[in-house]
Amino acid sequence: MRKALVCGAGGFIACHLVKKLKREGYWVRGVDIKPHEWSPDAADEFQQLDLREEANCRKALTLDGGTFDEVYQLAAEMGGMGFIHSAETEIMHDSALINIYMTDLAARLGVPRYFFSSSVCIYRDMRPGEPEMKEEEAIPAHPDNEYGWEKLYSERVAMAYERRYGMQVRIARFQNCYGPEGAWTGGREKAPAAMCRKVAEVRDGGTIEVWGDGTAIRSFTYVSDMVDGIYLLMHSDLKGAVNIGCPQYVTVDELANTAAKVSGKRIEIKHVSGPVGVQSRNFANDRIYSLGWKAKVYLDEGIKRLYPWVEEQVRRTESGKS
Ligand code: NAD
Repeated sequence: MRKALVCGAGGFIACHLVKKLKREGYWVRGVDIKPHEWSPDAADEFQQLDLREEANCRKALTLDGGTFDEVYQLAAEMGGMGFIHSAETEIMHDSALINIYMTDLAARLGVPRYFFSSSVCIYRDMRPGEPEMKEEEAIPAHPDNEYGWEKLYSERVAMAYERRYGMQVRIARFQNCYGPEGAWTGGREKAPAAMCRKVAEVRDGGTIEVWGDGTAIRSFTYVSDMVDGIYLLMHSDLKGAVNIGCPQYVTVDELANTAAKVSGKRIEIKHVSGPVGVQSRNFANDRIYSLGWKAKVYLDEGIKRLYPWVEEQVRRTESGKS
């Protein structure tokens, strides 16, 4: 039976990945600084460890009777735009330490295959409609936030270890990912969950606040598509970074209106100042398409799946207060 270590398994994408690996027949150890809130028993074994400590990375990677066949590194300081702009030092310090220790130890302990979760945040700000950027066009680099710089650095760490130790490294640059069992409140939530929450909290005919003027262009990848892409990439021969994203571009206002449509409520949007991030990012998916991957879940369908879950969390929280 193949054995996989999934770092960040207390978080959103990694926990969905754990479930995918279980369906594929793996024995899985999850590791995170905190347990997963909704699916704490998804992995065969879960270790609660702070991966900023080298000794804890070693513990996570240590397996009786051998090494892991595959290591998936998704642990990071992560959140939406508000978080990314307010937690620059945590991102540059904590995520970099996790990646330095995990990559170094995985290579030295002889792990044959290592996956690193990067982000399309490594690309520069773009104008809507600008030609799509390919992976190699990230350099010369100009990410608009420190989160992107840390990812770019950690990609290079992983590739350096691949060259030195021969560990097969696979790197995905994720686009905005959304779905149930992710952060939906508290400051780390990303735009789709935040919009669903705002709509779920407001009465029919009410007003929700949206940061910026609502024209920024985004694309969103549903989590089942993302984990299918990760799995396919990990078992492919594609070296270097690979974008994974749904090729549907929408404005932030269109995202809010999709959540409203799914809820059946009429809402007004009030634009307020806030950390918006880039105006647009248009990037090519040709490399992941070459493996036969295509996004299956587009925004309407994805929000139809996410909204009821967020609404349920809102209802539970409100009934807990009363
Ligand atoms: P998440 O916050 O839900 O998961 C990250 C997990 O890392 C969390 O559970 C957190 O507790 C854990 N972690 C943080 N510090 C740790 C530490 N010191 N020790 C152990 N665990 C620690 O985020 P996510 O959305 O699931 O993202 C997973 C990965 O994908 C991250 O690397 C993120 O940067 C990347 N990514 C995500 C998106 C997205 O849209 N969600 C987009 C691009 C890239």
